[in-house]
Amino acid sequence: MTLDIGFIGLGNMGGPMAANLVKAGHRVTGYDLAADARERAAGHGIAVAESAERAVAGAEVVITMLPTGRHVLGAYEGLTAAAREALFVDCSTIAVGDARIAADLARTTGHRAVDAPVSGGVPGAEAASLTFMVGAEDADFGEAEPLLAAMGRRVVHCGASGSGQAAKICNNMILGVSMIAVSEAFVLGESLGLSHEALFDVASAASGQCWALTSNCPVPGPVPTSPANRDYAAGFAAALMAKDLGLAAGAAESAGLPTELGRRAAQLYADFAAADGAGLDFSAIITTLGKGTA
Ligand code: NAD
Repeated sequence: MTLDIGFIGLGNMGGPMAANLVKAGHRVTGYDLAADARERAAGHGIAVAESAERAVAGAEVVITMLPTGRHVLGAYEGLTAAAREALFVDCSTIAVGDARIAADLARTTGHRAVDAPVSGGVPGAEAASLTFMVGAEDADFGEAEPLLAAMGRRVVHCGASGSGQAAKICNNMILGVSMIAVSEAFVLGESLGLSHEALFDVASAASGQCWALTSNCPVPGPVPTSPANRDYAAGFAAALMAKDLGLAAGAAESAGLPTELGRRAAQLYADFAAADGAGLDFSAIITTLGKGTA
């Protein structure tokens, strides 16, 4: 079924996602504050509007892919021109609390809302192989699923509003902490005279096995495709990991939970991003962990 879709935020992720909706046969009208993003989108068959309000006028579905919760809430306040009962799908990574406020805002203007953050990064957005984590009422999920499937390979219904964002930050807390654990093991192993290959050969086939080790190994050599082999060119940028762990730490604070490793990891990635690591792959955190304390 061809849908009229308004797409707000045509950046690194939103641009290729909107292009995949066009490829799937939908009519997509988009808007971005940045002129270069608008130009790139036009080159992929997206009808570019001169404002967000115009992009969503009469749309049956409104998709947002924006940097932070502040941007999403700001945008939602201005998107009243969508069709009545239109389905609002926010794919940005934002706080669970902001996702619930955004859903309430959409509902008070006669629309429906789901949160559907993604993992898979820019390559996944380009190849339509993203994983979507969805917070939605059952009926709204049923409607969103085929649409999201045009931009991704996996669509998981995680529960009611905010649950998609909850799944996203919990998963990335596992990832951020496990990358530091793997990195510390390589640094310690090295100081004990253990080669990277030997530690990899043991841990990748033993109980230390995890994605951070076997797919995104933080030292060059054992996994030829990992960013460590190309001077840590991202990949998944340390700035985005710092952002996601900051959201996880904020959620833990609200819940009164210590999540000690998650919070420590948030601090380490934030410090690394603020120094000179923001644009590097998050596995480059290993370069900060070898400073001795003795
Ligand atoms: P980006 O900065 O490339 O794109 C965001 C776009 O939003 C920009 O082009 C900006 O001009 C536009 N924008 C901001 N405010 C706007 C407004 N009010 N109206 C219209 N356009 C506006 O960021 P991105 O990498 O595409 O990330 C988008 C979201 O996806 C973020 O929440 C990020 O955390 C999440 N995410 C990113 C990745 C990744 O690898 N890049 C992976 C997973 C999730």
